[in-house]
Amino acid sequence: AAKQRGKDNWVRFAAGMERPVHADAQLGAELRRGLDDGEFRVVYQPLVDLNRNLVTGVEALVRWAHPTRGMVSPADFIPVAERTGLIVPLGRFVLRETCRQAAAWLAEFGPEVVQKAGPNVSARQLHDPDFVDDVRAALADSGLPGEFLVLELTESAVLRGQQVSRALHELHGMGVRLALDDFGTGESSLSLLRAFPASIVKLDKSFVDGIELDEPGSPAAMARQAVARAVIQMAGALDLDTVAEGIENAEQAERLRQLGYSLGQGFHLAKPMSPEAVTRMLADQMPADQMPADQMPADQ
Ligand code: C2E
Ligand code: MG
Ligand code: MG
Ligand code: MG
Repeated sequence: AAKQRGKDNWVRFAAGMERPVHADAQLGAELRRGLDDGEFRVVYQPLVDLNRNLVTGVEALVRWAHPTRGMVSPADFIPVAERTGLIVPLGRFVLRETCRQAAAWLAEFGPEVVQKAGPNVSARQLHDPDFVDDVRAALADSGLPGEFLVLELTESAVLRGQQVSRALHELHGMGVRLALDDFGTGESSLSLLRAFPASIVKLDKSFVDGIELDEPGSPAAMARQAVARAVIQMAGALDLDTVAEGIENAEQAERLRQLGYSLGQGFHLAKPMSPEAVTRMLADQMPADQMPADQMPADQ
């Protein structure tokens, strides 16, 4: 054990030459404590059908309600959670919470209104040998059918390894849908899609930014449109659903709709919100004849 510990120390010291291990260790301990103390929350950002203007799903995003630092952004702690391995228990919490909440929405509003809900999954989680069992247990304990769960994975996370490939096929076999997140920013998109049982691609925000600008002679704007068009054609050929991420204005939404994107996500459409706020949105878009009695407006 002493030898093992000595080796770990050496690895830590060597790694410390490149990045602040002390900061990692400190934040890692805080994360652990925050997990134990129940400080993490899940918020949900609606995915909106661009043709019908209806919410058809949500992305689950973790938030840290820190007692002194306030709301901490995932950008500030996910990388540390990944490096320290805490992403495994944290990701399990987000997964279970999302399944529980999605099952509640499904029971309340039915499959016409709630189509899918999805958390993000890190490479580290995918490599965890218990991951598939964790998903199976989260579905069984919540009662959520696998078809309603979408796992968002990045290209780099699914790139490596037989083990990951086996896990993804097993999840696919359970009916769980897999979405390729931030699509277009990674490597090897096309070869990956052949080997990977994905059902959704999410066009990265970097291709949506400025897509509405039709400046003649702006190579950057033309390039983004070309990528958006290529992705939609590829998705059509491979029978994948598409989501355009980071839509910030009506012109972008309209341009992407015209290009053939069926679903959009972004601050212009809806921001990440509490589960209660999502419930209100879903109740508002329920057809009146299908509304549960306790959701009926008082004057009807
Ligand atoms: P992502 O998966 O690409 O999630 C989308 C991010 O873009 C979210 O940031 C969302 O709030 C933000 N966003 C959505 N629409 C717009 C828009 O119109 N404009 C702009 N500027 N931003 C928009 P968030 O919640 O801060 O999450 C950042 C990243 O952290 C996520 O990127 C995801 O990679 C990661 N993340 C979040 N929650 C989890 C989690 O539970 N597990 C893991 N492994 N990663 C997570
Ligand atoms: Mg995502
Ligand atoms: Mg994304
Ligand atoms: Mg993104």
